[in-house]
Amino acid sequence: MTPDAISTVPLWVQGAAMPPPSTQAVPASVDVLIVGAGYTGLAAARETAAAGRSTLVLDAGALGAGCSSRNGGQVAYSIKPSFETLRAKFGADVAFGICREGLDAVTYLRSLAQEIDCEWRAAGCFFGAHTARHFSRMVRDAQNQPRGLEQKIEIVPKAEQHGEIATDFYHGGCVYPDDASVDPARLLLGLERRALESGASVVDRCPVSAIERTGDGFAALTPRGVVQARQVLLATNGYSGPLSPWHRRRVIPIGSYQIATEPLGAERVRALIPRGRNIVDSRRVVVYFRPSADGERIVFGGRAALAEKDPLVCVPRLRQMMERILPQLKSARVSHAWVGWVAYTFDTLPHLGRHDGIYYCMGYCGQGVPLAPYFGKRIGQQMLGLKEGQTALDGLPFPSRPYYYGKPWFLAPSVLAYRLIDALGL
Ligand SMILES: Cc1cc2nc3c(=O)[nH]c(=O)nc-3n(C[C@H](O)[C@H](O)[C@H](O)COP(=O)(O)OP(=O)(O)OC[C@H]3O[C@@H](n4cnc5c(N)ncnc54)[C@H](O)[C@@H]3O)c2cc1C
Repeated sequence: MTPDAISTVPLWVQGAAMPPPSTQAVPASVDVLIVGAGYTGLAAARETAAAGRSTLVLDAGALGAGCSSRNGGQVAYSIKPSFETLRAKFGADVAFGICREGLDAVTYLRSLAQEIDCEWRAAGCFFGAHTARHFSRMVRDAQNQPRGLEQKIEIVPKAEQHGEIATDFYHGGCVYPDDASVDPARLLLGLERRALESGASVVDRCPVSAIERTGDGFAALTPRGVVQARQVLLATNGYSGPLSPWHRRRVIPIGSYQIATEPLGAERVRALIPRGRNIVDSRRVVVYFRPSADGERIVFGGRAALAEKDPLVCVPRLRQMMERILPQLKSARVSHAWVGWVAYTFDTLPHLGRHDGIYYCMGYCGQGVPLAPYFGKRIGQQMLGLKEGQTALDGLPFPSRPYYYGKPWFLAPSVLAYRLIDALGL
């Protein structure tokens, strides 16, 4: 298949009942204005609207134009720093609380999936060890989980690995049987429906270009008019642009690239990943893949370029990465390729709170499928002044770095260094 024949629309969006472009005017005033119609913004909107606050969600692009329609749909415990790292920094209680939020986020999404048809598949995840040393570390970590934060983990020695994935690329690994996957677009549409049913309005293709303080709130400038709002939430994550330079200095947009193979047939996919699990591995430059929801394709993602590129340009590199693990896919054609901007933070933690009176919730470091709906709900509750909205992350500093203004000039050297570390098997 030539690059021209590859669709750059995410696989999930192509088959989803996405709403037509909105044409409505924006109201002159609302109680709550939310910038960003992804998982975070929609989850927050549901809370504020259900409490009777007039709520408007605006997005610069289509509904979920950011990561929320572009992700891999993998659901896992998603707090990046280890308990030990967090304990050294914040003390045991805060560290425990932060890690608990990560577990609660998965539990919350699992319960949400009872209400929203988002193709929840509780197939678990295989975490492949890139080296024998990584495998030993996995075994050690599995045996020494902090008390109260235990997850079910099953060790898979190399000799049994083919029961998980038809490859000799890994040195064994472990299975997280409670991990799951969702259809990202269905989750998005489900969250939108809940927000709308609660009374919120969602207007797409309506960028907010400026927010100014007024006597009793804010005025937001949009191409469809000025909106006065008592409260504003920035739910812009990796798409946080010049609208708020303070936030832009605190999130690092990083391109994550995905490809989907053409339908291979469920039998062929099952032969590759017999238990239909998500697959990730222990390299610094992470790859992640899984069977599509219908079990017919492999959807494969990772960091495919040093600097950001057109997703079509990244197809050969992603293919190469995929075929190193699964050489059986050498003849498989790629039908879709797309990219989205995840939001890293300098301490690899999500952040939520209020700056200069404006609420924010962002920085999931590529793991927002469970975290964004969960923290979106929490920040919505905080905007209502509810105690349930409190989180262990409240009040933590949201760090930036000198000379960082939103363009991650350090990304290419960092990825290069990580690739070297991976190649050396460290
Ligand atoms: C390729 C890829 C794979 C991923 N895979 C996974 C995965 O398997 N598991 C996982 O947990 N996470 C994954 N993620 C991350 C996850 O998708 C995100 O963390 C999550 O969707 C973030 O949701 P959000 O609502 O905070 O942000 P987004 O969905 O990115 O939404 C932000 C929105 O803000 C809008 N916006 C920005 N500025 C303005 C403005 N001025 N005016 C109006 N609107 C504005 C944007 O248009 C955008 O729609 C992946 C991400 C990508 C890109």
